[in-house]
Amino acid sequence: MKPYILGIDIGTGSTKAVALTLTGEALGVVQNHYPINNPEPGYSEQDPLLIWHAFVKCMQDITARVGYAPVTVSFSSAMHSIILVDETGTPLSPMITWADARSEDIAQELRHSVQGAEIYRITGTPIHAMSPLCKLIWLRTNKPELFIQAAQFISIKEFIWFKLFGSFEIDYSIASATGLFDILKLDWSVEACKLAGISAAKLSIPRNTTYHRNNLNPDTAALLNISQQTHFVIGASDGCCANLGSHTTGPGIAALTIGTSGAVRITSPKPVYNFDGMTFNYLLNQDTFVCGGAVNNGGIAINWLLQNFLQKEKLTPADYDELFATIDTIPAASDGLIFLPYLYGERAPLWDTQTSGGFLNIKPAHTRAHFLRAALEGVCFALYDVLKTVEDASVNITQVNISGGFVSSATWTQILADITGKRLVVLQPEDASAVGAIYLAAQVLHPESYDQLTHVDNQTVIEPNAQNHERYSKLFPIFKKLYRDLMDSMHRLHELDI
Ligand code: ADP
Repeated sequence: MKPYILGIDIGTGSTKAVALTLTGEALGVVQNHYPINNPEPGYSEQDPLLIWHAFVKCMQDITARVGYAPVTVSFSSAMHSIILVDETGTPLSPMITWADARSEDIAQELRHSVQGAEIYRITGTPIHAMSPLCKLIWLRTNKPELFIQAAQFISIKEFIWFKLFGSFEIDYSIASATGLFDILKLDWSVEACKLAGISAAKLSIPRNTTYHRNNLNPDTAALLNISQQTHFVIGASDGCCANLGSHTTGPGIAALTIGTSGAVRITSPKPVYNFDGMTFNYLLNQDTFVCGGAVNNGGIAINWLLQNFLQKEKLTPADYDELFATIDTIPAASDGLIFLPYLYGERAPLWDTQTSGGFLNIKPAHTRAHFLRAALEGVCFALYDVLKTVEDASVNITQVNISGGFVSSATWTQILADITGKRLVVLQPEDASAVGAIYLAAQVLHPESYDQLTHVDNQTVIEPNAQNHERYSKLFPIFKKLYRDLMDSMHRLHELDI
């Protein structure tokens, strides 16, 4: 029986458990899904008890699959969730997820104020509807009875932790994504709590991300199929864990993901501020920041084009290969056709919910394949915009570790390499968040195994084509300027509501 660590990633759509032995051997992955509810436009809610049940099922499934219990369990989880609970940890309402947009107006007003900039500086969290700070202001204003009734305001990870240990504790990483936590003082921010209208006593006790506990009560240990002595490491957020799990911790390395949405993240010993682009600064541990930005329009924008204009209802891997093969004859920069990918509004670095997508500079020579190539380029330009924003405020980036669904496409990844002019590396295509949680646990509880556990043998490298990079370098400033030039018209179109 090889001892193993279990990484639990509490995601938005599912909870996943990944088992790795102390020598880095994968023993299995299990996953359990749960729904997201949208009772009103802009609302995004979940039942925290269903997520607890999914976690319990993951523990039971993985221990059954491996045949014995883990020595250590460690957590990664989605950021920005909020649950109002009483003193026994019982939810008073559904959990509000990161995707909930009901506090958008509050966020917009705060973002453009002097106070908003100061709160961003203290907390490192962009002022956005996803931030629990804005959600709390909305709840105080719109659900005052519920707000007053709440004994604690907690995230999904704290909910699960409370069910395990009966104690309201939060890791620095999840805390640093609440918009309420002072990322330099490592404690709740008096200013942000005042703005939210709560006392810090209603928030959990902050702990470093390697903090661990054991001594589960016998019933919980039996339910989870493990020993009472199994150690649980509190862990970090999914984004921060993903940086660790994808080996993106050295200077000059960035992690870039394109899945449904997209993100760029670097690891830094200090926060990297950008007051316009409002890049985030979340804590991986007490002295390491994960800095970057997330975009809305990743694969979702490409799939919109494929489904609506290329008549592909359900997209199989073969469909992507076949469609993307059609663009290989189109030169880099699509003969000047430009795609602004902002179909779903945009987060970093624009923070504009009213912007929209567009193809520009259409000429008679442009074919269907040009539109597809330009769309892939547009999504990559938007991520390059975030990469540049972070790079300009920190250190030169020489390597980009990539992940997400787009990694399956050699065409798409080459476009990204050529646009950024950086060497791309595929290290850990899947489950980087759960693996990062395992690495955190190994740092504190199994340090003698750390090097062997984290050793990676094979990696794929994609080098940029210098000629193509030069072409893209001419297009990128125009791509950026087009958004600024069109912003006003896009907003007026949004307001027309026709
Ligand atoms: P999520 O963020 O929802 O976990 P994924 O990481 O699975 O999503 O990425 C999904 C996106 O990746 C899709 O929207 C699509 O644009 C892209 N994608 C998926 N499979 C392929 C493929 N075989 N080739 C190219 N792109 C793909």
